[in-house]
Amino acid sequence: MESAMPRKITCLSCARTNRLPDDRPAAAARCGACGAALWQASPVDIDAETLAKAARVDEVPLLVDFWAPWCGPCRMMAPAFANAATDLHGRVRCAKVDTQAHPAAATAQGIRGIPTLIAFAGGRECGRQSGALPKEAITAFATRHLASTG
Ligand SMILES: [Zn+2]
Repeated sequence: MESAMPRKITCLSCARTNRLPDDRPAAAARCGACGAALWQASPVDIDAETLAKAARVDEVPLLVDFWAPWCGPCRMMAPAFANAATDLHGRVRCAKVDTQAHPAAATAQGIRGIPTLIAFAGGRECGRQSGALPKEAITAFATRHLASTG
């Protein structure tokens, strides 16, 4: 990946495409449209449209947790995913999709069971794992599939 080019990144709050300047820390960048932090230290809840756009457009890695409020293992994994997001801050963005509120997102990604993690990079899926995981396993999954760039 050319580090001289600003990387495209979708604001997870308003879905506007931004460009990450390389001369400033990515973790401090804010959306030019809504002012939200483009990298947050905790997972951001997103809908089907935002997911579809970020998965296709983003030039920074994205890790998505597909879950539902009625799913016990999903709720069990939530604190681990939040901790993993803190560990991965500045390297991998972490988002959550509530498949009950946004069933179209689950359908579009062919989700068969939850919780499911999907790693997106370079406009495509590059890894998928189902079942509740501890923080270390989530971070390892993200690192294996996504965090190859500094
Ligand atoms: Zn925004």
